[in-house]
Amino acid sequence: MRRVVASAPAKVNLHFGVGPLLADGYHSVSSLYQALDLREEVGIQTSTSTDWSIGVTGSITPEQLALVPTDESNLVVKAALLAARLAEFEVLKPLEFDIVKRIPVAGGMAGGSADAAAALLAAATKFKLGLTIEELERVAVELGADVPFALHGGTALGTGRGENLRRISLGRNLHFVMISTDAGLKTPSVYARLDRQRENAGVDPRAVGEPGEPSALIAALESGDLDAIAALIHNDLEPAALELMPELELTTAAAVRFGAIRAFVSGSGPTIAAMARDSSQAAELAARLRDANFVATPVMTTGRGTELLGE
Ligand code: ATP
Repeated sequence: MRRVVASAPAKVNLHFGVGPLLADGYHSVSSLYQALDLREEVGIQTSTSTDWSIGVTGSITPEQLALVPTDESNLVVKAALLAARLAEFEVLKPLEFDIVKRIPVAGGMAGGSADAAAALLAAATKFKLGLTIEELERVAVELGADVPFALHGGTALGTGRGENLRRISLGRNLHFVMISTDAGLKTPSVYARLDRQRENAGVDPRAVGEPGEPSALIAALESGDLDAIAALIHNDLEPAALELMPELELTTAAAVRFGAIRAFVSGSGPTIAAMARDSSQAAELAARLRDANFVATPVMTTGRGTELLGE
């Protein structure tokens, strides 16, 4: 009956380069991931009934909470089944999951991946697998390309599908205001739109070159040069997300008008990340955005990855 709880961070991509469409439908990417201090929590315990269950609470809007699946398609179930397979269990008693959600759903901040990472660590602990976070990172890619990073945390360059991680040092903390919407964007449809845009421009999405390493951004992150970081942030998925949700242009324009030094689409969107100079400017920016009826959450970079909270 032991209940184990773990937490995992949201991410923003400070660089997202999308390479060729691969035969299996994925793309190779070059992703500069940054973990944020907005965290999900997942608790797991053996169920007292014969049914599996998933309870979801949290600070996101009721409309957003309703988007979280409570059946076996939820990534926490997939993560627990992966841990049970690694434990070579022949029989798995039904589990009870409780998720505390703070990351917007389908928002481009990898909330589902954070839940998967937290559930994987919690289940691995509950099943006494004795695996380190690094060892879990190696198996986690089967749950999703962003799950290894959610375990890892901090700042990292992800290549391949995003799962081959190299730690990057960050010379100073960065502050953002994340502006979310109730309507999500499905990541596959954003990639599909990018492929269509490439075709329309006469480029075969399968023949695009491999995405390069964002060396200038990495150097700016290491030295903590805020203006250079702001200028070098780049997201290949942004034009596709903006075409699918043109109103996001108004959001980025409002963020800049209210003082953001840069505003950009987070991952596959539709969350907009507005960069601020420091925590007080982030708080002021969030207040002004809220006054204009945006859902705005100030966040800061963190070095923390997935962690055990208690057992
Ligand atoms: P990414 O940035 O990794 O592309 P995202 O942040 O855009 O992802 P998520 O919130 O991770 O999107 O989830 C996308 C979809 O995954 C949801 O629409 C939902 O159907 C499904 N899903 C499965 N498990 C979860 C979960 N625990 N939390 C949220 N969504 C989940």
